[in-house]
Amino acid sequence: MTTDEFRKHAHELVEWMACYMENVGNYPVKSSVSPREIFDKIPGSPPEHSESFNSVLKDIDEIIMPGITHWQSPGFFAYFPANTSPPSILAEMITATLGTQCMIWETSPAAAELEEKMMIWLREMIGLPSCFEGVIQDSASAATLAAILTAREKSSTFSINTEGVGSTGTLRVYCSEQTHSSVEKAVKISGIGKKNLIKISVKEDFSMDPQKLLEAILLDKKRGFIPCCVVATIGTTGTTAVDPLRAIGGICAENGVWLHVDAAMAGTALILPEFQWMLDGREYIDSFVFNPHKWMFTNFDCTAYFIKDAASLIKTFEVLPEYLKTRTRGKVNDYRDWGVPLGRRFRALKLWSVIRSFGTEGLRDKVREHIAMATALSEMIAIEPDFELLAPVIISVVCFRYNPSGYTEDQINSLNEKLNHELNDSGKIYLTHTSLNGKYTLRMVTAQTNLTPDHVRTAWESIIHIARGLSL
Ligand SMILES: *Cc1c(COP(=O)(O)O)cnc(C)c1O
Repeated sequence: MTTDEFRKHAHELVEWMACYMENVGNYPVKSSVSPREIFDKIPGSPPEHSESFNSVLKDIDEIIMPGITHWQSPGFFAYFPANTSPPSILAEMITATLGTQCMIWETSPAAAELEEKMMIWLREMIGLPSCFEGVIQDSASAATLAAILTAREKSSTFSINTEGVGSTGTLRVYCSEQTHSSVEKAVKISGIGKKNLIKISVKEDFSMDPQKLLEAILLDKKRGFIPCCVVATIGTTGTTAVDPLRAIGGICAENGVWLHVDAAMAGTALILPEFQWMLDGREYIDSFVFNPHKWMFTNFDCTAYFIKDAASLIKTFEVLPEYLKTRTRGKVNDYRDWGVPLGRRFRALKLWSVIRSFGTEGLRDKVREHIAMATALSEMIAIEPDFELLAPVIISVVCFRYNPSGYTEDQINSLNEKLNHELNDSGKIYLTHTSLNGKYTLRMVTAQTNLTPDHVRTAWESIIHIARGLSL
């Protein structure tokens, strides 16, 4: 493709992108294709001869689009959002065009220095103390892995990197029953072992019970285990429960245990002064992760990872082959030592574009609107006698179920599962479920970039309508 052809197609493509944004609410939210339907439409072998971009775009429309679930649709209430926004997309076009590798400062000084500055901006926006240093990672899962590996090295005086697991006593990691599965994955990968991940029970509001954590740590110490890391969550995946950091942090400090905080989704709410209470006890935190690629209008991937003792992170990950030795080493941040991958995309650019385009005030307004929509939805649910809320509504997630009288618990579970599938099959909205105390629970996340109170009201009307027409 020549540059002139590129220019022509790029202009056409911008038109395609803008049309998609204008019409995203008109697509069936959840793709309804069957397994292998898309696979079978794509030729088994690559083309021998050059094809035009127009033929690629035609296939995108005809083959790919039916197999897309529309995460940017205002009918998307599932999982957690993976929001994008026009300023984010524009900057991502530049990142792709520059195609720069941001592994060390010398491979693009602007990328390293903008990343450093953006992490300072974010740190101030969410109210973390200035002793934290930040780095952009590809996912909260990778950041949590980095935290657990660093905690592992610290609790073994950096010997496991050299000697291997098994060279020290058995390490233990603690989290609540509601913690995200990425913690279990990290514990497996780190060699600590899944059976050394202790899941602490939760209170009625689904937050970790600090008394139970203390008991588990003391019992482990008595039995000769080495408590290594506690993962506390601000905004659990099921219900956005907030673990009490001050109580948990005090226990960690007394017992010399690393405190990692997973705020992947709810971290964005910390930009609001009225949600700073979630960070009470921040002085105890060793590492902290949140995902601007969820709720902060910055397209995937962009995870903000903060660490108090950055030297220990670097010591955990550093390797220094000859070809990466530079004259600037030690004077600048070489982010390849701050996580698993060597090659890194220029992700700070879209963050810069988003924060400047919205302004911190614009971001706060948008996040407040989302939280107000969740509150409004929970009020609509609360007044219906045949529905019930199943967890406190803290930020932008509402957990509820259809609960008509005259059915057993098992039948209610089946009804709600059926309701979930019928709603998703309708193409109008998409929501996902969790299980709370054995109850099949519908979750509605009111945090999509394009969502308005009208969309929430319409969605709620279809939920009521479909639910009341259900039979077993
Ligand atoms: C989404 C989420 C994760 C995983 O995030 P990735 O960036 O997809 O790895 C981890 N923890 C919590 C609380 C989450 O909400």
